[in-house]
Amino acid sequence: MKFDSGTCLPINEIFVTIQGEGSFSGTPSIFIRLQFCDVGCHWCDTKHTWLLNEDNIINFEELVTKERDSNKFSWCKIEDIVKYIEVNYPQIKHVVITGGEPCYFNIYLLCDQLEKLGKQVQIETSGTAEIKVTDNVWVTLSPKINMAGGKIVLKNSVARANEIKMPIGKQYDISVLEDFLKEHDYLLTNKIKIWLQPLSTNNTATKICFNEALKNNWNLSIQVHKYINCR
Ligand code: SF4
Repeated sequence: MKFDSGTCLPINEIFVTIQGEGSFSGTPSIFIRLQFCDVGCHWCDTKHTWLLNEDNIINFEELVTKERDSNKFSWCKIEDIVKYIEVNYPQIKHVVITGGEPCYFNIYLLCDQLEKLGKQVQIETSGTAEIKVTDNVWVTLSPKINMAGGKIVLKNSVARANEIKMPIGKQYDISVLEDFLKEHDYLLTNKIKIWLQPLSTNNTATKICFNEALKNNWNLSIQVHKYINCR
């Protein structure tokens, strides 16, 4: 079945840009965006990835020539994705697998093949699905708590995280983060980096993140790519 085999994945886009968030901020990166998510964040900026509507299927050629956000996606073989990256982006060493929610699919094989190509792989996940990746993959967990889809952030996913990136829109979100960290106190004892990310580069949210970063020795993730008008 397409959902489970890990040999074929629904891809919304593949593109290159500068990673603008978290520990790899500033790093030239190949982004692979998977289609589908039912977490239901009301502020989501990739709502076009939410549905796996069969009417929106395109072929691989159309996928890699996409120039703007759309709900079109392609069921891609892992070997085609890896080959495309090998041929077109040999110089870029960092790959970010994102979504949608990439962990609704078995991405182990994709990670494994990219690493065999010499790439460092990072995934961005909400933590609401089991993380099936190789040991070297850098896991950025952006916990989505109490969202409309009713999904739970899984303990195992939190335990696999290499960094936590918390979207912050208002002061209340800080207290949600504090409760989350209390619940998973090993994140603090293991000194995993905590990133505060203002929603939509909003000024009020940025100010809250700035103040709370200084107060708690957390880090500020300002989505650099948005300031330089890139995806
Ligand atoms: S988890 Fe990510 S893709 Fe899914 S709704 Fe939330 S922000 Fe959007």
